[in-house]
Amino acid sequence: MTRLPFCTIPPAALLVSAPLFAQDTSRLPIADAHVHYSHDSVEMTPPERVIELMREANLKLALVSSSDDQGTQLLTALAPDLIVPGLRPYSRRGQTGSWFTSDENLAYVERLIATNRYASIGEFHLYGADADLPIPRRIVELAEEHNLILHAHSDADAVERLLAQSPEVKVIWAHAGFDNPAEIAPMLEKHDRLWADLAFRSGVGPGGELGDDWKQLFIDYPDRLMLGTDTYTPERMYFIPSHAETARAWMTSLPEDVAEQLAWKNAYDLITPVWEANRDTTLASEDPMAALCNALDASTTTEEDGTTVSITPMNELKVSEPVSVTVTVCGDNAADAVVTLDASMPAHGHGMNYAPEHTVTLTGDAGQQVQVDGLLLHMPGNWEWRVDIDNGTAKISLREDFAIQ
Ligand SMILES: [Zn+2]
Repeated sequence: MTRLPFCTIPPAALLVSAPLFAQDTSRLPIADAHVHYSHDSVEMTPPERVIELMREANLKLALVSSSDDQGTQLLTALAPDLIVPGLRPYSRRGQTGSWFTSDENLAYVERLIATNRYASIGEFHLYGADADLPIPRRIVELAEEHNLILHAHSDADAVERLLAQSPEVKVIWAHAGFDNPAEIAPMLEKHDRLWADLAFRSGVGPGGELGDDWKQLFIDYPDRLMLGTDTYTPERMYFIPSHAETARAWMTSLPEDVAEQLAWKNAYDLITPVWEANRDTTLASEDPMAALCNALDASTTTEEDGTTVSITPMNELKVSEPVSVTVTVCGDNAADAVVTLDASMPAHGHGMNYAPEHTVTLTGDAGQQVQVDGLLLHMPGNWEWRVDIDNGTAKISLREDFAIQ
């Protein structure tokens, strides 16, 4: 790394004079771990321009998460060598204070996980005991299940609660919690699955001068901190190059290897292996059974112990006319189970007079679909479907009422 002779330059010049330094500055690559490209930014700045700004900044990696997700997908498609997509649990602006109690936001996250590939869930806003609410707990489960890093805009308390929920999950602490080095250091010391980004921390290296407390933190924890611009408003997309330039300026007072780790290696070493592993996983959309299970509407299914069943007649139900039914069974234990459908009239204590025929029509890790032919409902009145799912070790029965005239 070539050192900037910035002690001879007025500090103010460092913030605004990228062209002046273009030939002097080491073009130290930067990993920007905190980029958003939300719906209003997409309207204001085309994705091609955003990528140009990132190339101009010599970014090696950008972790992007957006409200809604479209901006992230646009950038990922344009520059797959540069962009790593994160899943922000917000479908639009203004959900930072409500997402953690919103079933709608959880459904949004689950749908996107089934549709796209990501390296992280976040950045999300979460404080204190809210981290232990059911939806954040589910988010931690999803992160564990899908090998995703959590990117948490949180206080130290919420970060600790998130880490305590899983023995595996890794957390990037957004903005390093807006805490001081004296508060960040013990957190990093205590939690080896915790990293922190320095997004929107203008107090780090103001005017190109790095304070002793920050310098010591970077030296003491050389592999745990990373940079970020935080483009949370549309105009901040244009700050990406100047942010990188400012960081290069204050990093000149760090030992060369520490500067390099902070500039890009820490983020790269944490995020790239996760992304490399996830980008090659089979998506639900490429797995018909998973797609089918994801598409099942909760209002038309019956659920028990994580197993979901949907029963769809293929022709109109009429008395004493043979009918076929599609049974879709989803859940961890559903794929290899024997699935049978029966119909009975509970009030009469009897079932059908003929045994139907079962044919498995689709299977996958997510479950299976069975076509049932030759069902004959010989009386009008109230009937009940019963689906038995027997996987050899456990048997579940799910019931659904219906009536025929
Ligand atoms: Zn942010």
